[in-house]
Amino acid sequence: MKWKTLFLISLVCLIASYLIYNKRLNKFNSMLETPKEKKLVPQSKFKNTPNKNLSHKKVHYKKADKKIKNNTQTFKTNSPHQLPINDPRHLALTDSKGNIYPDSLGVDGEYVVAYGDIIVGESRYIQDYESGDKVLKVNRPQVWPSRRIPFRIAEDITEAQKRAIENIATKLAAEVQLSLTPYDPYKDKAYVYFKKGSQHCYAQVGYSGEIAEVALNERCGQTEIFHEVFHVLGFFHEQNRFDRDDHIKILWENIDEKNWPQFEKFPEESFPEIFINQAPFTFNTLMLYRPNAFSENSDYSIVNIYGEAYKVISEPTKEDYRRIMLLYQDITL
Ligand SMILES: [Zn+2]
Repeated sequence: MKWKTLFLISLVCLIASYLIYNKRLNKFNSMLETPKEKKLVPQSKFKNTPNKNLSHKKVHYKKADKKIKNNTQTFKTNSPHQLPINDPRHLALTDSKGNIYPDSLGVDGEYVVAYGDIIVGESRYIQDYESGDKVLKVNRPQVWPSRRIPFRIAEDITEAQKRAIENIATKLAAEVQLSLTPYDPYKDKAYVYFKKGSQHCYAQVGYSGEIAEVALNERCGQTEIFHEVFHVLGFFHEQNRFDRDDHIKILWENIDEKNWPQFEKFPEESFPEIFINQAPFTFNTLMLYRPNAFSENSDYSIVNIYGEAYKVISEPTKEDYRRIMLLYQDITL
């Protein structure tokens, strides 16, 4: 009887120890699994980031960035305007899809901006950009999927700016049959959002499937707002075109070195196709900077190939409207 009791007690102890051990083992295994999973997430994310496919070199963006900075230092010793016009150092860094990775970025209020007035990202994500979790790039422009383009105007936009936006909507409807219409909060996920900005006028380029923000400081008038709307419709600046050296000269000596990246050329692959064969370079556009843009003195920064300044355009031209028609020729209401 005594032995039987002892045997039973030993058996219960043995089973209990096994159960406790097994539970701890499971816990231990799950502890092992958690960091494994955590480790995998950023790795797979990193693999999906396009900065691995940079066309200049197959290296991480930051390394490529450094390379360009070195090149910029070379600019310092060799006067940049003496560089051959096809020198790759004038080219923007791009990936195989034509997306652009700006070399020079500025932060203004809510936005990270590049190439003067192009919104590249939101400044609240600065740390994510620095750690490589988010990438700052300007996508090759996409057109809006419908000729009806929803828009929303923030309450704090000035009355004059609201009227300017209405005028722009009227002109676009009459000239190119694009219909800027008030957005439906229940239906429209992607729309143009005119809101109050910080120091300048800024816009995103093209359609992204999400809200396309146009940030307006109170001094942005109808000309500037129209220029921003062109960005939203899918237009870059004319002076960034791949073929601009056939038509204009950049006077690097009149531009502060920190602003040289503003005048980078984008390759053909970064532009919608119509700009390659059907819409050649023109001076007759709202999208070309004025001859003294980013000049650090009283001299010009951009002139025509004969060394002369050109007329500044303040209203969209027939050519501008023709380009919208071309860009949206396959898009219906
Ligand atoms: Zn612009």
